[in-house]
Amino acid sequence: MKKYVYGIDVGGTAIKFGLFDFKGNLIRSWQIPTNIKDCGRHIIGDIREQIYTDMQENLMSAEEVEGVGLGIPGPVKGDGNVLRAVNLGWGKCNIKEEMQNLIQMRTEACNDANAAALGENWRGAGMGYEDVIMVTLGTGVGGGIIKGGKIVYGNAGYGGEIGHIHVQDGENQRCGCGNYGCLEQYASATGMVRIASKIKSEKSIADVSDITCEKIFDDAAAGERYALSALEIWGGYLGKGLSIMVNMLDPECIVLGGGVSKAGNKVIELLHPAFEEYVLKDLADIEIKLAELGNNAGIYGAAKLLI
Ligand SMILES: [Zn+2]
Repeated sequence: MKKYVYGIDVGGTAIKFGLFDFKGNLIRSWQIPTNIKDCGRHIIGDIREQIYTDMQENLMSAEEVEGVGLGIPGPVKGDGNVLRAVNLGWGKCNIKEEMQNLIQMRTEACNDANAAALGENWRGAGMGYEDVIMVTLGTGVGGGIIKGGKIVYGNAGYGGEIGHIHVQDGENQRCGCGNYGCLEQYASATGMVRIASKIKSEKSIADVSDITCEKIFDDAAAGERYALSALEIWGGYLGKGLSIMVNMLDPECIVLGGGVSKAGNKVIELLHPAFEEYVLKDLADIEIKLAELGNNAGIYGAAKLLI
């Protein structure tokens, strides 16, 4: 009888593994470094080795394992087609078929931010809801849309790319995607530092090299002007971006994750004025929550793909 499922979060520096039961209890988890040599072609072999070793060491038979779910850092379609995954060195491939053939087990795949959204929906802050938007605030701004308990993959695998909503005209720096004025350029951790550095250098406060998000939050708590205005501007962009998503999708709840969300409820306070200004008034009371699964959200969601 099938009892277990593996959830795997394939990142550019580490591959995280989790073994789950069907109720979503994490039985064990571990990680290995990602071998991106030779265009990342060793990755799926490494995954197979880890899974087989884990099953052997723990006396599990293939009959007990439903399969493996994979979260991939790039656009992934519902049929497992990956357009590219730059951080892994991958070009176009069908990861679902390749992994399935190699490991002889059922395989499902999705984008890593979508996996995190599904994970939070299954066992984290979005539990009990059917329609959830998750936004991940890290180096970039990632996102995932859960509709009726399922990931919205989109036609090309770009479903939920909230980070590239256009929020600012006249920007002269290019976003990683090639466009100008994307939400990610302002609302990410990098964006927050950029906003603060700009304010500091405009006021010719000399040294901007040591600015981090943590320092900005600390300085704001100590009442430093530059930090307070940086956070206000930052929250303004985030609130605007979220209001666009909510007006379009009318979800039950928004979950905020990623490194910046560790600043806690302060993040929600900061985005709220702009959010309230731009969201449809009937939707203004939507629940905005902080993620609960941390770095494990991706393995939870990857596992849920099979259940
Ligand atoms: Zn962009």
